[in-house]
Amino acid sequence: MKERVDSLIFNAGQVVTMGQEPGPRRGPEQSRLDIVEDGAVATKNGRIHAVGPSQDLRSAFEAPAEQTIDAERGVVLPGFTDPHTHLLFAGTREHEFEMRCQGRSYMEIAAEGGGIRSSVRSFRAAADEAILGQSLRRLDRMLHYGTTTVEVKSGYALSTEQEMRALRLIEELDQRHPCDLVSTFLGAHEFPDEYREDREAYVRILTDEMLPRVAAETNARFCDVFCEAGVFDVEQTRRVVEKAQKLGLRLKLHADEFEPIGGAELAGELGAVSADHLLASTDQGLEALRDGGVIAVCLPGTSFSLGKHVYARGRKMIEMGIPVALATDCNPGSSMVDSMPLVLSLACLEIGLTPAEAVVAATVNSAHAVGEGADRGRIVPGLRADLQILEAPSYVSLVYHLGGSHVRWVVKDGRVFPPPPPVTTSSAT
Ligand SMILES: [Zn+2]
Repeated sequence: MKERVDSLIFNAGQVVTMGQEPGPRRGPEQSRLDIVEDGAVATKNGRIHAVGPSQDLRSAFEAPAEQTIDAERGVVLPGFTDPHTHLLFAGTREHEFEMRCQGRSYMEIAAEGGGIRSSVRSFRAAADEAILGQSLRRLDRMLHYGTTTVEVKSGYALSTEQEMRALRLIEELDQRHPCDLVSTFLGAHEFPDEYREDREAYVRILTDEMLPRVAAETNARFCDVFCEAGVFDVEQTRRVVEKAQKLGLRLKLHADEFEPIGGAELAGELGAVSADHLLASTDQGLEALRDGGVIAVCLPGTSFSLGKHVYARGRKMIEMGIPVALATDCNPGSSMVDSMPLVLSLACLEIGLTPAEAVVAATVNSAHAVGEGADRGRIVPGLRADLQILEAPSYVSLVYHLGGSHVRWVVKDGRVFPPPPPVTTSSAT
């Protein structure tokens, strides 16, 4: 008598489990995949129920036909966690891409009122349903690329009421879409037009007005600040994030993207969960991350999209023992990227990660970068049944064969997208 399970994926050439070790992976551990060859996975009640050799699981379990998948020697990976996105935005900025292709820099365009401030104007003017509709399509594409958990930041609103609206819309997206969303308050993304001449006043609004309401009225788990030359300096950043910590929010920082003004050092000192970008970080900055147990989130799609040819020092970070995670930074200005596989390819080609390190960076470590490492990012019994089934002979194909999606099916909380064709007797034996 076979035990009934909700779904059964069998005949996988590789089930990349990532193993039992629960913490973020650093140093040599960043390349540990714990692969089961000729493997299978059973799920029950939205959780991984069993993992092992295909033959064993097929004789022990049975699932409804529409939830039984012959992986046809493909690869089963944990669903990706994308731990840094700005995907809640209204309207795109193709004209800026054209300007950048003609030689203008991102910072020049921003100084003339483009960039984040232009997206703020669009966000404030757009109706809720328009923003939700566009953002749901972005999440659909992410799911199509194997992403099942997405961090989403506010930060195109920049007034108390509008930031609260942004965080409410993120909650609504989470309810409407199969992907799980983790919400981050980024009111300190830029200074809004109305406070450009009185930045101190905006910092006070952030600390005294917005943060108490964010903590009391929303499900935001993180507070983030764009700590950068010309945006929030280290002292302003410290005031915002220390207040956020007092209110129970955990920290992320946009640090050292363009200039090393001390963002990584601050992230290390305050024990931020992650510090992100880090292109310009000094050795001391990286040491602070290592000593503070901070996860480095690298965003090579942003460097690529900006045509900068400057990337975070991913190889160095791993050699130093800093856990490295990867994210798309999906946003309308500097990284119109929704594909984690593209980011993994760039991590291998431009920041010196191996394919195995990149896979760990996008699963185990990126789940930890949003505080979810105990619940997802590995294929072991008890964890959330978030999987992707690839048409590929090995996990290396994911980064080697770049530019498209290898995903045949995504399993989110045990539910299969899209529904697979019925397994015929001939292919099931
Ligand atoms: Zn960002």
